Amino acid sequence: MSKQYETVIGLEVHVELATRTKIFCSCSTQFGGAPNTHTCPVCTGMPGSLPVLNRQVVEYALAVGLATNCQINQYCKFDRKNYFYPDNPQNYQISQLYLPICHDGWLEIETESGGSKKVGIHEIHMEEDAGKLIHDEWEDCSLVDYNRSGVPLIEIVSEPDMRNAAEVIAYLEKLRLIIQYLGASDCKLQEGSMRADVNLSVRELGAPEFGTRTEVKNLNSFKAIARAIEGERKRQIELLEEGRAVVQETRRWDDNKESSKAMR
Ligand SMILES: [Zn+2]
Repeated sequence: MSKQYETVIGLEVHVELATRTKIFCSCSTQFGGAPNTHTCPVCTGMPGSLPVLNRQVVEYALAVGLATNCQINQYCKFDRKNYFYPDNPQNYQISQLYLPICHDGWLEIETESGGSKKVGIHEIHMEEDAGKLIHDEWEDCSLVDYNRSGVPLIEIVSEPDMRNAAEVIAYLEKLRLIIQYLGASDCKLQEGSMRADVNLSVRELGAPEFGTRTEVKNLNSFKAIARAIEGERKRQIELLEEGRAVVQETRRWDDNKESSKAMR
């Protein structure tokens, strides 16, 4: 390899908040439970049902924002993000697209060389989780469980300030420590109460512009995240070395095969 490359990484981290009840209704957020027992007309998207915001969600989002040096928007609002998929009974997700509750924060991490570095936080917004689809290949059908539908989430969107897997892990560990200390979430990657999507691009060292980025999903441990970053970095550099272009797309990481595939 003749050229030298730099990796540019940003993260979208979803965290399930530790409230007793869901974001817009009084159904339980408890993990598990028989399918569709923690549901009501609001979180199953019945026509005419009225969402009422859970105060604790706002308080947790604010606490995380303040602990990560964010500015707090005095006026914020929710928006409907329309998409049609069976895990989403309303056909829209209630999220914050334009005026998120927190913005422009940062976290300080320690780097491998023993120094420190600030990673910018673009924004933190509140939103609701979707239900879960279970694909039963034996019965040849798909089933849906809405117990998770309406569980409160915050999404923490970083700036593209990280340059390698070690910085990403240091950022995630710091974030998890802060959120756990605040009691806002238990941040368990295996149970999905903390989930990270990795946006990654490569560019020639010293290049002024970012390369084309891809998003890698389905990462449920820090080790999987580190392996996915290494795999995706190599894949993109190989494409560029062959004179081909990186396609902007979402890819699903398969940690057993240690490779990623484009998602439809
Ligand atoms: Zn409900």
